[in-house]
Amino acid sequence: MADKRLAVVTGAARGIGRAIVLELIEQGRLVAGLDINAEQLGELDKVVAEAGRTVVTRCVDITKSDELANVLEALACEHGGIGILVNNAGITRDKLMMQMNSEDFDSVINVNLRAAFMATTFALRSMVRNKFGRIINMSSVAGVMGQAGSSNYAASKAGLIGMTKSVAREVGKKNVTANCIAPGFIMTEMTAALPDTVKDAAKQIIPVRRFGQVEDVAKAAAFLASDQAGYITGQVLCVDGGMAM
Ligand code: NAD
Repeated sequence: MADKRLAVVTGAARGIGRAIVLELIEQGRLVAGLDINAEQLGELDKVVAEAGRTVVTRCVDITKSDELANVLEALACEHGGIGILVNNAGITRDKLMMQMNSEDFDSVINVNLRAAFMATTFALRSMVRNKFGRIINMSSVAGVMGQAGSSNYAASKAGLIGMTKSVAREVGKKNVTANCIAPGFIMTEMTAALPDTVKDAAKQIIPVRRFGQVEDVAKAAAFLASDQAGYITGQVLCVDGGMAM
């Protein structure tokens, strides 16, 4: 299937975002991957080129609203709008609540929630105009269940859920859907940083008793981005081995 609608994925250089880019390309979509990490974006470019495919990559710090708007505007102008937006970029700055300061809180909110808000407001313009849009926000089981040591992160991810449901209600009539994916523990550099004790404890509360792969999340994102998912909106799809049910 070749689809001319542009899909924009943030946090595209590695981990889950990279897997989503590769899956969407595999499905014949035109994809723009945004990330702050130029080196890893270059590696993504190389991998895609070696496979005989193309990807558009843009190095941008998505917390810099003007830079983000400029990049999205240029992409939308070039490609007749943004059809699919995957707000995937995310960071953690874990600390117990009593040790957390406002900078820890703001930095996580700025990447995980505020940048998703900025990108969504921008993408919605062409989505509403073109009467087609798929917004997919990368939440987390932490936003559904809470997570000790991650109150900033959980707040950002729960915030995404509220924002997604609100957007879904606002623009459903324009054929624009908005959904969240809430991954559980997925094997990426983000989770590799966790201590072994935390990883072992986590496996005990996951019914399938293992961490997920980035491809598990990428397949879910590609489905929510597809024409087949047009009657699904305002939902939170947990890709978590049953952890948050
Ligand atoms: P990751 O750290 O491997 O990748 C995140 C990407 O976001 C990186 O490439 C990073 O450079 C980019 N990024 C960070 N700050 C940015 C900024 N200011 N501007 C542009 N790009 C920026 O993380 P991941 O594990 O692939 O997670 C992807 C998403 O999935 C995140 O939102 C994360 O919270 C969520 N998530 C991950 C897991 C997991 O187990 N890995 C679980 C639940 C939710």
